Amino acid sequence: MASLITCPHCGVRPKEEFTIRGDASPIRPQPGAAFEAWDAYVHLRDNVRGVMKEHWQHTGGCRRWLVVERDTFTHDVHSVVDAADFSRAQAAKPAGATTAGKTVKSARPAGKAKAATAAKPGTGRAKP
Ligand SMILES: [Zn+2]
Repeated sequence: MASLITCPHCGVRPKEEFTIRGDASPIRPQPGAAFEAWDAYVHLRDNVRGVMKEHWQHTGGCRRWLVVERDTFTHDVHSVVDAADFSRAQAAKPAGATTAGKTVKSARPAGKAKAATAAKPGTGRAKP
């Protein structure tokens, strides 16, 4: 079954219409920030195994940038929001608050999600 992403502007589309850019959580430092802050912003990323927010562009559709909340292990898409709405919400909220904006829930039915701790058969190492 194809993975589906619900674009807030175009509706449910196959993921092949989208291009991923990566983690949406780093916040751009101020222009006069220290070298270390810029180095971390440009080069350092967490390798998340679980739910994270990523920038995706709907290159095969409206060409808008989106923030997709996705499980990197199960590939389940939890929500999609326009990146402009996400940025406005990030700028307006106090630290630790939740994201507001035009959020679209996943097109996948609930209950199809796999447990994040489940391992695929044959991919684990044999115990000594
Ligand atoms: Zn679109």
